Amino acid sequence: MTPTDDAPTLAVIGGGVIGSMCALAAADTGWHVDIYDAGPEYRAAEVAGGMLGSLGEGHPGESALLALSAESTALWPRWIERLGDPGIRTADDSLFVATTAADGEYLRQLADFVWSEQIGADRLTTLTAREARAQEKALTTRVHSGYLARGEGALDNGLLLSRLRAALAAAGVHWHRIRIDAIDEVPADQVLVAAGMGTAQLLPDITLIPMKGEILRLAPNRHSVPPPTHVVRGRVDGRNVYLVPRADRLVVGATQYEAAGPDDHLPQAGGVADLLADATELMPGLRTYDLVESAAGIRPCSADGMPIIERRDERTLVAAGHGRNGIVLAPITAARFADLLAG
Ligand SMILES: Cc1cc2nc3c(=O)[nH]c(=O)nc-3n(C[C@H](O)[C@H](O)[C@H](O)COP(=O)(O)OP(=O)(O)OC[C@H]3O[C@@H](n4cnc5c(N)ncnc54)[C@H](O)[C@@H]3O)c2cc1C
Repeated sequence: MTPTDDAPTLAVIGGGVIGSMCALAAADTGWHVDIYDAGPEYRAAEVAGGMLGSLGEGHPGESALLALSAESTALWPRWIERLGDPGIRTADDSLFVATTAADGEYLRQLADFVWSEQIGADRLTTLTAREARAQEKALTTRVHSGYLARGEGALDNGLLLSRLRAALAAAGVHWHRIRIDAIDEVPADQVLVAAGMGTAQLLPDITLIPMKGEILRLAPNRHSVPPPTHVVRGRVDGRNVYLVPRADRLVVGATQYEAAGPDDHLPQAGGVADLLADATELMPGLRTYDLVESAAGIRPCSADGMPIIERRDERTLVAAGHGRNGIVLAPITAARFADLLAG
């Protein structure tokens, strides 16, 4: 929708996945929108695995997060259509694999929780070792047991961000590459703070915990086994590792530990070593892949694990604290923000 000259104005601070999708939702309903963004080096969405994990993120005790994630995942197809590129989705299903009896017990507890919550439970199927290996031929012979989560795939977050940027430009949204130090600096009728970890500096009464994570990008070459077609989520000797297929890459992720500070952006050797060890244990053929990139980002986590999507005062709204699930939760965040904006 093209805004009229007297349309209300919205400033969005932060052009990550959350700020961009909220900005587009507002522009689609006739708002004049400006985005103020400090740049990609501060953006968790650049390094994310891109998994749409609701069942896979269904940890006991997080019932509300599981329900919200499932609701949001169901909104993704409409957004992919809006962005006009089906290539954004790179996998449809997730295969969960345990390598030992203890790992199998860990996965069983996650599955039991999902079944007990009855959210998408019919999409989660138990697999024997043989059935799991039939799904992905290059898996280790050490497979103990597994689960198939249908409809729980992944997006290429790099492609998503570039398609969002194009859609924002087409909708007339102006992008300003600038760090904002105070909300008053931005001229607009309404302001959305969606600055990931930067939100806590702009709204000091919001506490966010910086959870750092490393990921790797691997590329097959002519000596390599083909990449998996599912998202493969392994529990390997007590540690989690995931493999996410992309058009020409395989993303391996992700570690999780508290960051030393807001500038703790370099991958640590130990994190990279653990990811490589666990990924090649899960799928030995990955040893021939080229290691194209290692990167680290900081997940902006709220204290209770739930995203903070609310109005702060007459002029200010916030959408932040999406932790390990910002890609999953972006559509429901944009929908809730649009409702708040509409009053
Ligand atoms: C290793 C790793 C793997 C992950 N894997 C997944 C996954 O598989 N699935 C999933 O759903 N989620 C995943 N996540 C989490 C996901 O990346 C985040 O939840 C999501 O990116 C949060 O989005 P955001 O827009 O709030 O923040 P960000 O993506 O961090 O974007 C914030 C933006 O705000 C800007 N900014 C900050 N401060 C200011 C300021 N003062 N002024 C102007 N601009 C500012 C930054 O430049 C940045 O562009 C992962 C994260 C990491 C680190």
